[in-house]
Amino acid sequence: MATTVSTNIDANAAQFVAQTRKMLINGKWMAAASGKTFPTYNPATGEVLAMVAEGDKEDIDRAVAAARKAFENDSPWRRMTASERGRLIWKLGDLIDKHTEELATLESLDNGKPLTVARAADVPLAAELFRYMAGWTTKLEGNTIPLSVPYTPGARYHAYTLREPVGVVGQIIPWNFPLLMAAWKLGPALAAGCTIVLKPAEQTPLSALRLAELIMEAGFPDGVVNVVPGYGETAGAALAAHPDVDKIAFTGSTEVGKMIVKAAAGNLKKVTLELGGKSPNVIMKDADLEIAIPGAASAIFFNHGQCCCAGSRLYVDAAIYDKVVEGVSEQAKKIKVGPGLDPATQLGPLVSDEQLRRVCGYLESGFSEGAKAAAGGHKVGDKGYFVEPTVMVNTKQNMKIVQEEIFGPVVTAIPYKNVEELLPAANDTVYGLAAGIWTTNINKAHSLAAELRAGTVWINCYNIFDAALPFGGYKQSGWGREMGHEALELYTETKAVCARYA
Ligand code: ADP
Repeated sequence: MATTVSTNIDANAAQFVAQTRKMLINGKWMAAASGKTFPTYNPATGEVLAMVAEGDKEDIDRAVAAARKAFENDSPWRRMTASERGRLIWKLGDLIDKHTEELATLESLDNGKPLTVARAADVPLAAELFRYMAGWTTKLEGNTIPLSVPYTPGARYHAYTLREPVGVVGQIIPWNFPLLMAAWKLGPALAAGCTIVLKPAEQTPLSALRLAELIMEAGFPDGVVNVVPGYGETAGAALAAHPDVDKIAFTGSTEVGKMIVKAAAGNLKKVTLELGGKSPNVIMKDADLEIAIPGAASAIFFNHGQCCCAGSRLYVDAAIYDKVVEGVSEQAKKIKVGPGLDPATQLGPLVSDEQLRRVCGYLESGFSEGAKAAAGGHKVGDKGYFVEPTVMVNTKQNMKIVQEEIFGPVVTAIPYKNVEELLPAANDTVYGLAAGIWTTNINKAHSLAAELRAGTVWINCYNIFDAALPFGGYKQSGWGREMGHEALELYTETKAVCARYA
């Protein structure tokens, strides 16, 4: 029932969207218990792209039961050696590589991002994440611990810790990097030996469903990974509140993150959150503008500004402010806006009509409060959800467009006189996800990096991600970290074992 997409695309992807997609529970592809389906749209046209089984509480219950069964002590997954587990995860990484074109096409069709970007970034980063995590399975070690129990003189103890998987994990992911967010979540959970119920975003369920097929092809036992597409208020809420889920990992808005925390309180499941941001990107007087100007443009316009770590507040030393604004505006005007499948496209549509209205609402709010657009500022065309790359000037720190996360290709450029004025302004946000610094002075760079309240600080670069580098937020940008060995720790419990032997 999906609309036809261009015949000029990867044949496997075209075939994938042509059929109603089911959900994966206990290794089987199933329709929703209710029989309901929901549409996912092509943001470049606003037309229905594919129909997908609409999971709800009953499907979540089934998926959690399957994940629990797969986590039982004598299950094939729990009996597997760490090395065998690692090889399966590595194989999944290789299968992703093998299907790059298909996955990148699905990502571009469903999310709107340029196919060229999905092919060069989203898909290989997802594959690499699994390979990085595969290596950790054999390295999750505990410690031996010397005891000095004062009230049992003469007694001797052998004590050690075990790192065990946290159990059944619920994972709820957003639509901005649908495949990569699935990888960030699944990789460490699988490496730690957990079983999983994953709920992709309703706007972009397709690549996670294709990934689920690859998971089965790789040979993971039934029930280890279950994927239930559906809406947040129904399927997502049921997963967050489920009494038999041991941990919930969520990426999305800060607003929904707070709801997840409340829902998780019922059984006090562990919670990790990767939430919103309003990241400051600072260009100092001595910066190399040849790299800082395109760097600042890419910090906000990459993925159409739909990155939780987007460099959305550009702070520029007043001495070079005009030059930088002119440079970033020139970059913005040069960006080729168009459908993601067009090889010339550099900036695709926003993901949904809702996001289009939200971003346009912020632009209007900025204008009504006195801000001006040095570049862009408007919606593009009547079909699809396109917005011009926009540079806002004449802004004040207390304006909504400076304080709130826009999640679109809109940067506010603000001059500063000195570091004493810069620091409080840069840190004046409820968020603390990321920050950027552009300078040729190494002392200034590291001293500012230490003072910015953010989980990631990029110096003379931006949006650099690596499976080994932890990512997450200070303040209301989240709890815990994704990627690196820190992510793994958050999917394990530490068990202390203490034995008296004399
Ligand atoms: P955005 O506003 O950018 O769409 P959300 O935070 O609403 O981001 O969505 C991120 C993910 O959270 C999606 O998978 C969505 O379905 C899910 N979600 C939304 N509302 C809830 C909720 N009340 N409980 C659980 N999950 C939710």
